[in-house]
Amino acid sequence: MPVLTRLIPSPLVVDIRPGALDDLACLLADERISHSGRLAVAVSNGSGAKLRERVAPGMPGATWYEVGGGTLDDAVRLAGEMKAGHYDAVVGLGGGKIIDCAKFAAARVGLPLVAVPTNLAHDGLCSPVATLDNDAGRGSYGVPNPIAVVIDLDVVREAPARFVRSGIGDAISNINAIADWELSNRVTGEKIDGLAAAMARQAGEAVLRHPGGIGENDFLQVLAEALVLTGIAMSISGDSRPASGSCHEINHAFDLLYPKRAASHGEQCGLGAAFAMHLRGAHEQSAHMAEVLRRHGLPVLPKEIGFTVDEFVRVVKYAPETRPGRYTILEHLDLTTDQIKDTYADYVKAIGS
Ligand SMILES: [Zn+2]
Repeated sequence: MPVLTRLIPSPLVVDIRPGALDDLACLLADERISHSGRLAVAVSNGSGAKLRERVAPGMPGATWYEVGGGTLDDAVRLAGEMKAGHYDAVVGLGGGKIIDCAKFAAARVGLPLVAVPTNLAHDGLCSPVATLDNDAGRGSYGVPNPIAVVIDLDVVREAPARFVRSGIGDAISNINAIADWELSNRVTGEKIDGLAAAMARQAGEAVLRHPGGIGENDFLQVLAEALVLTGIAMSISGDSRPASGSCHEINHAFDLLYPKRAASHGEQCGLGAAFAMHLRGAHEQSAHMAEVLRRHGLPVLPKEIGFTVDEFVRVVKYAPETRPGRYTILEHLDLTTDQIKDTYADYVKAIGS
């Protein structure tokens, strides 16, 4: 008999709405994630203080841990501090660095993680990966998926606009990542996980086609859901393939070649995606992507994030080396520096400068 279905690794609870933070303790009790209320809450020592003030009265059994930064050492230290308590779960309340530290620490002490992101900067909020700075630069560590994801849209709306913009670029870049996956399937025979691809693509398309803007709750709802679904798509496929193609190779190349000048993850991925779609000959889709990115205040030209054309050409040339083994339109075309320059000029013409 064939295998009938498969189980999808996914959070038990996904709660995305305005005011969700106020019901956090009740939700965790109701869902039997924490009956006793004994929670280890990781927050930043900066902006976390305000949130703590607001949430702490409703969580009398919680112990609060201030996390310094987003390094492996911070995460190991956090795990060591939590070890002594008897907790039902770890709550990561804050931006990407705090969530990733909490993810790693929770995995290390064997407790489930409740992710409460306070911004929407990328699709890592619900993914099985913790990205932490280590002695060698930056590392990705496999961790269990969060048991719950709670996103308060009122909190997210108050975060600096650049965080929401970054999330938009990351979500929209899914469309390019899936196109790379399909290309690799055709050329190298790499297997596509259809469900993971469907979820990631629909997430990207929903954000691309939504007429709203970053100040509106219904747009933020769709964006937050898109980022959560993208994280689950990565859990399903077992790697970052559904959300990371040539767009992300370009992003990594910016980070590695110009570590001090790099823009945000989503800004670089969005620009990378619009350019890579043009590279693959999908000129209409590329122009549409660029138009939407522009509408949200995201860059579509390197000069908009402080880079010259020559620097961008160098980034694109170097990009395939950032992810050995991943086949995308960049590996497929294997362009020379002059060819990249020509295609870039063509891209600028197509989207309008
Ligand atoms: Zn990304």
